[in-house]
Amino acid sequence: MLKIDVVRSVAALRAVVRPQKREGKRIGLVPTMGALHQGHLELVKTARRMSDFVVATIFVNPLQFNASADLAAYPRDEATDLNLLAATGADLVFVPSVGEMYPKGFATQVRVTGLTDHLDGPARPGHFEGVATVVTKLFTQAEPDLACFGEKDFQQLQVIRRMTRDLDLPIEIVGVPTVREPDGLAMSSRNRNLSEAERKIAARLPEILGRAIAQLAAGAPAAPILDAARAALLAAGFDRVDYVELCDRDTLHPLAAARPGSRLFAAAHLGRTRLIDNWPVLP
Ligand code: AMP
Repeated sequence: MLKIDVVRSVAALRAVVRPQKREGKRIGLVPTMGALHQGHLELVKTARRMSDFVVATIFVNPLQFNASADLAAYPRDEATDLNLLAATGADLVFVPSVGEMYPKGFATQVRVTGLTDHLDGPARPGHFEGVATVVTKLFTQAEPDLACFGEKDFQQLQVIRRMTRDLDLPIEIVGVPTVREPDGLAMSSRNRNLSEAERKIAARLPEILGRAIAQLAAGAPAAPILDAARAALLAAGFDRVDYVELCDRDTLHPLAAARPGSRLFAAAHLGRTRLIDNWPVLP
């Protein structure tokens, strides 16, 4: 059992971080919902390289779950997470309770428009308000100089970049490339909920997207290629496809054909688990 400092209140977090800042140390923040895997640890390593004092947070944020069953099924394993964070070089872990984050009477929401018009915006009503609100709070609580987020949640990364710019928060947002399993499946805490049979089907998601990307990159009209990818996911065993869309990486608005800066985004359900993925199509 490795040792790592854990704080559970905003006051205790500030009591540790503020003296570090006064010493001139650069604070790096890595927000997570726990059930950590190599993807999360890559964010910690990036923060370690780019800052002097790394704060990781573990908080399963009820505000960003639009389905209560998804929140109830979300995997939690704090003891293992703390060991992994210690081994990866985090300096402090902030693990607030729901009551600490959202005291009685909490009534404020942060909403980023435009970037949330498509993809997970309509598919998960309220999700990005929940994300933007909790990340704003983590930023004002920890006062980091930089914060790391994964490209696996690309729309989330863009929403946080915009929010940080719009609110003049003096924080550098660092995007970290998606860490994948050997068969290409993007690592995700939700993968733990897949049965053995579902795990095999899940690997078809990056494979089917890869095939679509090869066709899209050649400049063909997107609509039939995206339709074929949706059909292929259902044929592979996915139960429902929320979307397969080609979008501009900056506006996240759909495109009719690939052009520089296009990215392919997909979300599909496998039993009780919802998987997302995204890839660049043209640089
Ligand atoms: P989560 O715990 O799922 O909220 O994720 C916490 C952070 O880890 C977010 O910035 C995610 O984008 C990032 N993340 C999750 N999975 C991966 C992955 N496979 N590769 C890189 N970053 C990831």
